[in-house]
Amino acid sequence: MRIVRFASPQGMSFGVLDGDGQVAQIEGHPFGRISFTGARYAQADIRLLSPILPSKVVCIGKNYAEHIAEMDTGDAPKAPLIFLKPSTAVIGPGDAIRIPPGSTNVHHEVELGVVIGARGARNVTEEQAMASVFGYTIGNDVSERDMQKSDGQWTRAKGFDSFCPLGPWIETDLGALGLDPADLEISCTVDGAPRQSGRTSQLIFGLPTLISYISQVMTLLPGDVVLTGTPSGVGPIRPGQRVECSIEGLGTLTNTVAEAEGVSTAGGAR
Ligand code: MG
Repeated sequence: MRIVRFASPQGMSFGVLDGDGQVAQIEGHPFGRISFTGARYAQADIRLLSPILPSKVVCIGKNYAEHIAEMDTGDAPKAPLIFLKPSTAVIGPGDAIRIPPGSTNVHHEVELGVVIGARGARNVTEEQAMASVFGYTIGNDVSERDMQKSDGQWTRAKGFDSFCPLGPWIETDLGALGLDPADLEISCTVDGAPRQSGRTSQLIFGLPTLISYISQVMTLLPGDVVLTGTPSGVGPIRPGQRVECSIEGLGTLTNTVAEAEGVSTAGGAR
């Protein structure tokens, strides 16, 4: 099933994207047994949002050998290298990635996103890990390279508002499509020009290892997202450009790139 989250004139809800392109509205959340409200929407009448609002996004650095080589920042890690993106970085399909003021070195990073299911994941073994997975989506680990280098750690460089596009949907049954998350084609284009391409079979640490490892550190809650690392071919994006991240079976996550908005909470409602 393709799970989406969407805004309609009636408000925000989850839904299932059907083969006919229509969205069937779900009652409440999409975990566990789903019940439908009976309402159906044409995609033209709704706006797709990020398919989930995670409490946290746990990311993996340096998990494709060719990307480690192109970054030239040392060898592959001996264990998964984890870092966090704040929930406020998450945006949905069609939303704009905002370039921070003065920045000229923001890069795209297409990544396979794992969405954690209803039971969460805490202290799970590699053998138990995949039972914690709800489904898969596409993520873009947008990164400001100058800050990444100068800060020595990555919270600022990868934590700006809009630096975590997710979507367009969560596929809950890749197996039914004849696909294996451990071997999916993954790619990124900017204004239609090829940038990144690879396969998830190139992951240094695979999904069971990643989920198990993270779950020994922090409890993964339902809806949390693990971004599993990016293949080689990362590069800069500028305002006015269009970034398209694609993964086999998961569609294409398209985002525009724009200047930062100078919106402040100061002086607003308290
Ligand atoms: Mg990354």
